[in-house]
Formats: sequence, structure tokens, C-alpha cells
Amino acid sequence: MRTNQPKTIYLSEYKVPAYLVDSVDLRFELFDDGARVHSTLSVRRNPESADVSAPLTLDGDSLKLEHVALNGEELAASAYEDTGDQLVISKVPAGFELTVVTWIEPHNNTRLEGLYKSSGMFCTQCEAQGFRCITYFPDRPDVMARYRTRIEADKSTCPVLLSNGNDVDRGDLDNGRHFVTWEDPFPKPSYLFALVAGDLVEKQDTFTTCSGRDIDLRIYVEPRNAAKCEHAMDSLKRSMRWDEEAYGREYDLDIFMIVAVDDFNMGAMENKGLNIFNSSCVLASQETATDLAFQRIEAIVAHEYFHNWSGNRVTCRDWFQLSLKEGFTVFRDSTFSADVGSPTVKRIEDVTLLRTAQFAEDAGPMAHPVRPASYMEITNFYTLTIYEKGAEVVRMIHTLLGPDLFRKGSDLYFERHDGQAVTTDDFVKAMEDASGRDLTQFRLWYEQAGTPVLTVSDAYDAERGIYRLTIQQSVPDTPGQTDKKPQHIPFALGLLGADGEALPLSLESTADDESAPTERVLELTEASHTFEFHGLTQKPVPSLLRHFSAPVRVVYPWTREQLIFLMSHDPDGFNRWDAGQRLAVDVIQSLVGSPDFEVDPRLVDAYRALLSDSALDQALVAKMLQLPSEAYLIELSESPDVAAIHRAREKVLAHLATSLRDELLACFHRNAGAGAYEVSPESIARRSLRNTALAWLLMINDDTGRDLAVQQLSDADNMTDRMGALRALVNSDYAAERSQALSDFYERFQDDPQVVEQWFSVQSSSDRAGQLPQIQALLKHPAFDWKNPNKIRSVVGVFAGQNLAAFHNPDGSGYSFLGDQVCRLDDSNPQIAARLVTPLTRWQKFAPAYSSLMRSALERIRDKTGLSADLYEVVHKSLEV
Ligand SMILES: [Zn+2]
Repeated sequence: MRTNQPKTIYLSEYKVPAYLVDSVDLRFELFDDGARVHSTLSVRRNPESADVSAPLTLDGDSLKLEHVALNGEELAASAYEDTGDQLVISKVPAGFELTVVTWIEPHNNTRLEGLYKSSGMFCTQCEAQGFRCITYFPDRPDVMARYRTRIEADKSTCPVLLSNGNDVDRGDLDNGRHFVTWEDPFPKPSYLFALVAGDLVEKQDTFTTCSGRDIDLRIYVEPRNAAKCEHAMDSLKRSMRWDEEAYGREYDLDIFMIVAVDDFNMGAMENKGLNIFNSSCVLASQETATDLAFQRIEAIVAHEYFHNWSGNRVTCRDWFQLSLKEGFTVFRDSTFSADVGSPTVKRIEDVTLLRTAQFAEDAGPMAHPVRPASYMEITNFYTLTIYEKGAEVVRMIHTLLGPDLFRKGSDLYFERHDGQAVTTDDFVKAMEDASGRDLTQFRLWYEQAGTPVLTVSDAYDAERGIYRLTIQQSVPDTPGQTDKKPQHIPFALGLLGADGEALPLSLESTADDESAPTERVLELTEASHTFEFHGLTQKPVPSLLRHFSAPVRVVYPWTREQLIFLMSHDPDGFNRWDAGQRLAVDVIQSLVGSPDFEVDPRLVDAYRALLSDSALDQALVAKMLQLPSEAYLIELSESPDVAAIHRAREKVLAHLATSLRDELLACFHRNAGAGAYEVSPESIARRSLRNTALAWLLMINDDTGRDLAVQQLSDADNMTDRMGALRALVNSDYAAERSQALSDFYERFQDDPQVVEQWFSVQSSSDRAGQLPQIQALLKHPAFDWKNPNKIRSVVGVFAGQNLAAFHNPDGSGYSFLGDQVCRLDDSNPQIAARLVTPLTRWQKFAPAYSSLMRSALERIRDKTGLSADLYEVVHKSLEV
């Protein structure tokens, strides 16, 4: 814990490491009351470092130093300095062997960084800077070494001993102990080191690579979870095949392992050959996991696997380059999910997250470029900007180059930089070299924060048959950045005629109109562009930014007629959905704070048409029926009044449900389960439609809907339908049924932590069951655990992030509550505390009555004694703006 201002680290101050480490020999002695770590490094001066007299400086955190030796000779205490977070040895030869022995206490490690214990199992999390909590080391990603790891532990409590690479030696020791030695032939940075020791069972399978090598695949879980690994294993095999086919990337070790861990700060971690997963991101069965969880697991397994090349074989030079591996890998996993599922639905889901949460981050006090220029605490930069916007930036390169040149670029990148630690600029350079395209201006996407705004206007010249489109771009100011330059933006569009026909897009009057394409990607590079489309005999309806071809806001004066037209005619499924969202946003916004209340009947008609359109892709219909979320409506508003937005949205929802009651009942019955449960886009869409219909009916307290929900809750053969019924009941006014449903559900699933997390979330996200006194009661529930990040997220995180009307209670009680929990957590797990505080950091956005209360909650956190560096950075930056 620190009370002083943490140090700011700048990209501009990057220096190559003064020393390199060629190999790391580790020996772990694991005991109940601690662990002894013997580390022998083979070190040499870096010939590329200008600092030829630099001392050897190793990072450390919470270590008890027992022994230091240089070339086998123990060093006297006067020969080195142990400052607590650094071990400095001033006199060292040009090449030498350094041995360090440290003592650590995994069972007391509540930060869950480095080596810690989770339900009796030893496990590690080293990204970004956890390795320094295990032993003294130059803990930075550009120091890549070969690791050999010997683990020794009690054979009965830790029968399974795992680390990176291939298993090369094992045997028994005295006193009921045993050992296993692992050797990783690929040089890697310390953040990819992993160790697991515990009582685990394995699910085993084999994958034959494109060159015919057999890979041993293993998923390790606690014995009670043995039956829940099949989906993750299938997902892994699909991912391995896909990466061979789509990117030409073959797996490189003899074995690939996944371990499920209950207490984990993140979702999952791509350690070389030994991925460690949050249990909630790997375990699934029809009875315990929803469709959403199945899809999420598949995407995360793929993401971590894909890192083997985009992250591990080619890694980041420094943490400012985090998006090099994350943006590219999110793009890769998102393309994979689109390929194995519904591409339009996947795009809608990605864009929903981006527009709701990343745009908010980009407009808030923590706004930063995809490649930040500075940070205090790197764990605060595992953000939507680095991941999701970073992926959009790679997607735009894909759009600009086309699939073939993009693949040529990625091949060149992997070939040129295999075994190296590189920068986002190296990635773009490979794309340029392979394609011959100049991406100089495009690089601004990595340097400038903020979401560009495109203001579009148009005019039709009937006499000459010309449609003129003017697009102006501006990038808003963000903390520390003003007067930004125009960015290079791919802008996909089409034009539709009165009957919905796709019109040819001729940019020149002489062109043969008939052969012109009906969709184009315009490249915007200036502050303003005007495009002329020739040969048009009628004023078209523009379909702008198709597929969401760039992460920007588009401002265009849509009429409701145009939006309704696009909802049913746009050949781009994404823009159909988007038109529906824009229409619903427009209707809801017009009712916010308005005393009279009349919902535009055209919205009801549009939804009626959707509910009965069985020709349209039902997965798309299911998405189109979801009204824009409160979070998105808030994001779109200036100075939002949360209670007024909540009321307007609820009223529109109730009005739609009342007007469409018969259609909803028909939709529910039409989509009743048919045949065995399967996780295919069609059956997911069916369950989604059915549960949306149920939720809407319960929203208006319809007794038939209530009976259907109670029935479904008891009869369901899968968690999606069971959870759909529970959620509908919890969000209704049927108080007796709600509490009965909640207690029956808990009774049935209380021994399954991942289901209990869902049970917490369904309550904390509900404005009926999740008011503050009920949230406080959940914190005292026997299943709640302050040491488990998933439980904290499912109650405190969901309440503040999803139950917006309750969190933004005008009396400020939600804010003080969050402040109290954040302060409490800061002492045990600062990383989680700094993440949970995010909703308060947006205080400036809200109407004055809210923002002053949010600000004072933040100030109370700021004044806590012993504030961690994590929280210090977030709280101070949000108060400084
Ligand atoms: Zn990742």
C-alpha cells in the first residue's frame, strides 16, 4: 500500500533493457505455509544498450529474500541493495549466472497476482507484473528467456503439477512429496510464466495439426466439474483448426493445457501452453450454462488459444503496446465467432459493447489512445479502448487492404517478428510492406484518443440526377489532447431506391451506371469530403457506415420514415438492426421528461412486423426486438437524468408489450423447444425470441405470461430457458412468485458457484429485486465471498453497471454504497477495486443533481488512507478533469 503519488511511466522514456536473460531455471518448493523459489538466471549485458555501466536491477514485490549468489558465490549483504521493490547489484561482469532464493506466502495473497491459492490449489497470474511477486526478475515483456521449471509438492494434496512447455522429468521425493520438471523451448517474457499445483482431474483429447503432429489436449478442473469440459474442448479444437485455415498458424508444443480456477481477477490468461481460466469462462453444461455463456466460452477459449501466435510467439515490447496483442487477438476471435455462428449477430453484439461502453470510456476522464503515452498502474489499462477499439482498428486495416492483402500482411508480421517483442508500429509496417498501401495517416488511430464524429448531409439534384453526400469529420478533445488531426476512415455505404432496390454507385458521370457496385467503401482522410453519385433518377435513402465499418459516431438527420424503410429493406443486416435502434432511441428520447405520453404508432407497427416476419433471419429478429439499453441511452444523452430515461424506456416497453400482447404470446408458442437442446444459431435465436416475449409479457403483469414463466421455470431442460423464466419473474410485480422462484432456484443450484453467480446477477440487475437494501442483504448471504472476484462482480459490479435506476438513486445512496465497497476492497484486491469504481468516474456527464453526489463519493475514496496506486490513478484522474 502506498500513500504517496505513484510514479507516471512514459512511452517516450522507453529504453532497451541493460541486461538480457537467456535462460531461467526455477525450482518451486510448495508447502502449506508458503513457498520457496530458487531461481537461477543466465544473464548478459545487452549489446544494444548504451548504458554500459548500468547496475543489474531486478523487480520484486512482497518477497522475502533468503539468498543471492553470483556465479555460485554467495553475495555479501553489502554487495547488493534490496529496496523492497528492487534488487540492485552494482558490480556485475558482462555475463554471469545469478541465483536468488525467495520465500513467498501464496495462502496470504489476496491480490491474486503472482502465485496464490484458490480453493486449495496453487496457481499464478503474472500479466502484467505478477512475476515480480514470485522472484526478483527484470519483469518487462522485452526480456525473453527460455524457462525450465521444477515443481515439488506434497503428492496427496497436489497430485497434479503443471507449468509451461513440455513435461520432461518426474519422480518421487522423501516425505510423501514428488516433483515434475517442465521445459519450454520457446523464449517468452515473464508475464507468460504459469504454474498450477493441486488436486485436479483432467479431460483428455487429441488434435492432429495440419502438418500431421498429434497434440495432447488437456483441461484440468476440480473433480466436481469433470462433466463440464466438453464444450471448452470442442471450442479449442475448432479454434486450432480455424487458426490453421484462416491464418496459417500451427500449434507448436506437444501439449496444450487449460486449467479452471475459481478465484481469478480476469477472464482467462494465455500463458504459453498452460492457459489459466476463470471457471466461469470454461465450465459449461446444458443444465448450468446459458447460451450466452456457451458462446462466451467458445470466444474466450479461441481468444486465449490465438494468443499463442499473436501475443506469445510475437509479443509486446512494452505495456504501451498492449493492443498489439489484444486488439489483434480480439479481431481474430471475433472473426472466428462470426465464422462459426451468425456474422450479423456477432457484429451487432460487438458494436453494442463498443458504442455503449467504449464510447463512454473515450468520452470520459480515463480516455486514452489505443497506444497510450503514459500510465501509473498498467492494470488500469486493460480497457475497452485497448481491446475493443484496438480490434476495430485492425478490422479497418482489413477493410482497407481486403482479405488477401491482409493475410499477406499478417503472414509477413508473424514471419518477420517471430520470437521478438515488438510495437504496434511494427504491425502496421508489415501490413504496409505486404500491401504497398501507405498507412501513415491511419496510424493516428493508435495515437489520438476520442471517438471521431462524422456529420453527414446530403442533397439531390433531380435535374442532373446527382446525389451529393458531404461528410465532415472531427475528433473531440480528450484529457491532454486537443486540436486533433483528421483520421483515415473507411466508410462503407449503399443507396436504396423507393422499392428498396440497391442503386448503382457511380462516382463519375461517364461511368457505366449499370455495372457500378451497389456498395462502396469511401476513404475519408480530410476534415470534409463531398461525394457525387451520378445517374440517379430518384432521391435515394442512404445506408451509411454499413457493417459499422469504423468506430465513429454518425450524425445524420434521419426521418422516422427513412428508419422504418431501412429496418425492412436494407440489404445489410447490421444496418437494419441499427435503423431499428435509432428509431427506438428517437422515440424514447422524445418522451424523456415529457408530461404527455404517446408512443409513435409507427414504432408499434414496426415491431409488429418484426414479430410476425418468419422469413427474416430469426437471430436478427431476436436482436432487433431488444430495445436500446439504459446505458446506451445515457451514453447518447447530454447531461442525462437517469430516472427520467428509465421511466421513458419502461413506458415504451410497456406500451409495446400491451399493444403486441397477442403477437408476443404467438411468438412464445411458435418458438417453444423442439427436439434436443443444441447450441446452434437457429436454436439460440428461438430461445432468445421466446424469452424476450416472456419478459415483455411479465413486464405488463400479464397473468398468462406469469403462468407460462412459472411453468417454464420448473420444466426447462436447459439454463437459458430456466434463467429466462427466472429473470422475467424477478423483473415483474408478482412479488410472491418472484421470491418463490428465487428460493427454489437457489435450493436447486446452491452447490454450483457459477450458477450462484448468475443467481446473484439476476437480482442485482433488477430494479424490482435489486434496490439497495436487497443488495446489502446479498452481501451478507452465505454464498457471498469477499475474496472471490466473480461474486463481487455479480453483486456490486452488476448493481452499479446494470441496475442504473437503483444505482443512480437521487438520494446518492447508491454512490456511497459503491464508494464503501471500493474502499473495503482496495486493501485486499486493488485491481478489482479500481475496476469497480468506473461508474463513479463518469460523474461529469450526468445532470448536476447526480454529478455533485458522484463527485463527493469519489472524494471520499480519494481521502482514504493508504490508497493503492491502482485506485489513486483512476480517482485522481477522474477528479482532475
Ligand atoms: Zn487477450
